[in-house]
Amino acid sequence: MPQPLRPAVFLDRDGTLIEDRNYLSRPDDVALLPGAADAVGWLNRAGVPVIVVTNQSGIGRGYFGEREYEAVADRIDALFREAGARLDACYFCPHAPDSSPACNCRKPRPGLFLRAAREHSIELGNSYFIGDRLRDVLPGVPLGGSGFLIGSAAVAENLEIPASITRVDSVREAAERVLAALGFD
Ligand SMILES: [Mg+2]
Ligand SMILES: [Zn+2]
Repeated sequence: MPQPLRPAVFLDRDGTLIEDRNYLSRPDDVALLPGAADAVGWLNRAGVPVIVVTNQSGIGRGYFGEREYEAVADRIDALFREAGARLDACYFCPHAPDSSPACNCRKPRPGLFLRAAREHSIELGNSYFIGDRLRDVLPGVPLGGSGFLIGSAAVAENLEIPASITRVDSVREAAERVLAALGFD
């Protein structure tokens, strides 16, 4: 029996859930951002799948390997678990921006979102796209989802922000808005 499709929350990793250290490859350097565990825990308790989608071009650039990536991912999972929260899945693009032929998984390309939707029975058009960069939330626009852009990095970069994307101050605020939109108080 195919499962009914459901909305999900797609979250960027670096600068959204954890501190953005350039090309993070050591588990000891992982630090959750304030409010990240709260936000994920609230979504967990509401029954909304929480899926991380992250560009990890450090792999394609040869700065670190998938083994280091996995060690960092395990550390992130453990920190959330200790805080009573759970990441349901994590997808990463290992490619460099100039990889040839171009991959379909580096955000803002849609590949990882489409794969997650297949693997977790997700309705992308009712889903939420959250991150600190425009490329984290832009993929949601053609898919019909809702985007929440955290902070002011995109503004500082002078990028044009589509009207369908909402700016918020924190990942906590983004989660609150998602829960309100889904009918939770
Ligand atoms: Mg980021
Ligand atoms: Zn890729």
